Amino acid sequence: MSQHKSEENRLNDIKKYDIVVKRLQERGVELKDIAELTLGLQRQYLPNLEYEDALEHVKKVIMKREVQNAALTGIELDCLAEKGLLSEPLSSMLLNDYGLYGVDEVLALAIVNVYGSIGFTNFGYIDKLKPGIIGEIDKKGKEEGKCHTFLDDIIGAIAAAAASSIAHRFAE
Ligand code: MG
Repeated sequence: MSQHKSEENRLNDIKKYDIVVKRLQERGVELKDIAELTLGLQRQYLPNLEYEDALEHVKKVIMKREVQNAALTGIELDCLAEKGLLSEPLSSMLLNDYGLYGVDEVLALAIVNVYGSIGFTNFGYIDKLKPGIIGEIDKKGKEEGKCHTFLDDIIGAIAAAAASSIAHRFAE
């Protein structure tokens, strides 16, 4: 096995990739929605970028073990909050998406980090403007008994990391 291949195996996990994609779908998010966000982020720099390229980079990001671990942790906490299985004060903070909680954004940084610092700007942009699926997730999360406190940041972070991955590719 080449050096490059073994390095990739260390960072990637194919089995957990499928689980993460399924969990995202269960929470109302398709990979195509994330690819749309990535495309939106890169359009001004790479006007000829195709949707398929964006989707390919989203998949590449979700292959990474670090990304999977952050995504699974955040989604699980949202689900536990919805089921009423968290104790106070955490339960209310998550169900109300309390502004000063902040751990949802911190967890998302584990995802943004995988492609270096360009990701931070992209993540901040998405977090502020809430385009596409982020706005929808945010709105649905405000419904009674629903919790998307972690989900919106996870999605935004995956889209931002994919945009960074594209930027690195085209800078080469
Ligand atoms: Mg959040």
